[in-house]
Amino acid sequence: MTLVSARELVTAASDAGTGIGAFNVIHLETAEGLVRAAALAGLPVILQISQNCADYHGGLEPIALASLALARRAEIPVAVHLDHAERPELVDEAVALGFGSVMFDGGALPYDENVALTAEVAARAHRAGVFVEGELGEVGGKDGAHAPGVRTDPDEARAFVAATGVDALAVAVGSSHAMTDRTASLDLDLIARLRAALRGAGAAGADVPLVLHAEDPADIEA
Ligand SMILES: [Zn+2]
Repeated sequence: MTLVSARELVTAASDAGTGIGAFNVIHLETAEGLVRAAALAGLPVILQISQNCADYHGGLEPIALASLALARRAEIPVAVHLDHAERPELVDEAVALGFGSVMFDGGALPYDENVALTAEVAARAHRAGVFVEGELGEVGGKDGAHAPGVRTDPDEARAFVAATGVDALAVAVGSSHAMTDRTASLDLDLIARLRAALRGAGAAGADVPLVLHAEDPADIEA
């Protein structure tokens, strides 16, 4: 097995009614550990590199090329994804480096600005065949921007997908980044309504999978 696009892994999971794990790479050892763990579990995995991680390393390229190299020699299918990019130029750099998928995070922007910028970034990524994740309704806790009770509205989600052309959507359904206690509670009813709203909502009638962001899934009480 080898480097694959997250499109392939996410679509297979969505079709099967399951999920696929995407874990953040911090440094080379994290990426090695994640690939090793996935191989031991016999499961595919998505390695994701965030804008914060790229900035920590002083640039995206070194950690990106290391992760892509690990993916190519892995025993199981591994995708490399750009996570929480708020700068469009970082998305363009990831596409040029060979990422199969990117997240453009306009979740903190006013709705109209999020739509306009996400659509622009997605169009460029799509020209390179790259799978694009957008975000609507800020996922709580990131960079201190936690807004308690923020939830993604299903009708708005469908309109956002239609207006931007994103292939997957990160939604606010009760999960949170940077949790320090077990207080997050997933709104399963809202997840079901979002899933129904995004069925067939993508390009060529494709389903648009939901992306759940959380610091540590073990800490979510569903
Ligand atoms: Zn996240």
